[in-house]
Amino acid sequence: MKDVKYAAAKSFEEAAALLADGKSALLAGGTDLVYGLKGMHTPNLPDTVIDIKRIPNAAYIKEEGGFLKIGALTKLTDIAESDVVKKNYAALAEAAKLVASPELRNMGTIGGNICQKPRCIYYRNEFNHFPCARKVKGGTCYAISGVCRYHSIFGGVGGCMAVCPSDTAPALVALGAKIVTTKKTWEAADFFKVQNKEFGTARGEQINALDLDEVVKEIQVPTPAAGTKSTYKKWAFRKAIDFPQVSAAVVVAGGKAQIALGGVYNEPKFFADVDASDAAKAADTVLAKANPLTSPQKRNNTNKYKVQIAKTMVKRAIEGLK
Ligand SMILES: Cc1cc2nc3c(=O)[nH]c(=O)nc-3n(C[C@H](O)[C@H](O)[C@H](O)COP(=O)(O)OP(=O)(O)OC[C@H]3O[C@@H](n4cnc5c(N)ncnc54)[C@H](O)[C@@H]3O)c2cc1C
Repeated sequence: MKDVKYAAAKSFEEAAALLADGKSALLAGGTDLVYGLKGMHTPNLPDTVIDIKRIPNAAYIKEEGGFLKIGALTKLTDIAESDVVKKNYAALAEAAKLVASPELRNMGTIGGNICQKPRCIYYRNEFNHFPCARKVKGGTCYAISGVCRYHSIFGGVGGCMAVCPSDTAPALVALGAKIVTTKKTWEAADFFKVQNKEFGTARGEQINALDLDEVVKEIQVPTPAAGTKSTYKKWAFRKAIDFPQVSAAVVVAGGKAQIALGGVYNEPKFFADVDASDAAKAADTVLAKANPLTSPQKRNNTNKYKVQIAKTMVKRAIEGLK
């Protein structure tokens, strides 16, 4: 494991100031960060780890001023089990409940979940065995000619086919959430845009557009209008603990669906105001432009099957909300 220095921040602002050297990383639950430090899979590992777990009053769930407000250090278990989240923001509660395992949900925070690093098998390979497009300037995406089942079916920004691995990300995008940081308030859909111009640097390895010295403080989800329903469906190879191959967060109100797909693109793939009257047609609409990968070397090495799974997830989600 890489030898790192340790610092503890007493506020998000102090954490942001400590990040300013560009060579530090935040430690929340640590379930993703420590895994990365042990794997040493990137040349851009931090020199210092800044513990934010001790920041007071940063783990909460409350409805206030037309929003559900969730502190960045709130544990995924608390979100999954919250009565208010389950009742009014079901897609988020269901997504949180489907992250990893109980142990990881007890440690993992919502802030860490939306700031985790890509889960691509090439990106994550130990000792930077694959100097991929995200990590090294001019690097290649190995999924294009290799194993691609965990990769995009909608192409990739900057040639990178790694997908957004976060389960809560599609739910936040479909629910129209905002992400409040030490610098600004992001629309969730903008927050998850990857920075391909930064590929080859630590910032380019992120699944979001945060500056390296920007810290997530709070998630705000607008309180839905009466009659709004939402859900999150996830399909993974291993049922007990696994990242999504495909997931679908669907919010339906007034016959229209807001749909965000997970596991299929660099960011949650968002489709606004889809006609929800016919679930099968809605599913066909959102997958119409899918462009799955097929390795030129091995034609049976394809992720084409993810298109059908995505259609099924969308169809089941809409039908379940009727
Ligand atoms: C075996 C295994 C299975 C997993 N399965 C899933 C899964 O099915 N679905 C899923 O979504 N995730 C999964 N994860 C990933 C991870 O555990 C979760 O995403 C978890 O929520 C991360 O939260 P954390 O608090 O532990 O983050 P940490 O590890 O502490 O941090 C993760 C990253 O986010 C940054 N960060 C943390 N907090 C902030 C903040 N407030 N502002 C800015 N940056 C921040 C850190 O610097 C770090 O780079 C899995 C992990 C493992 C090890």
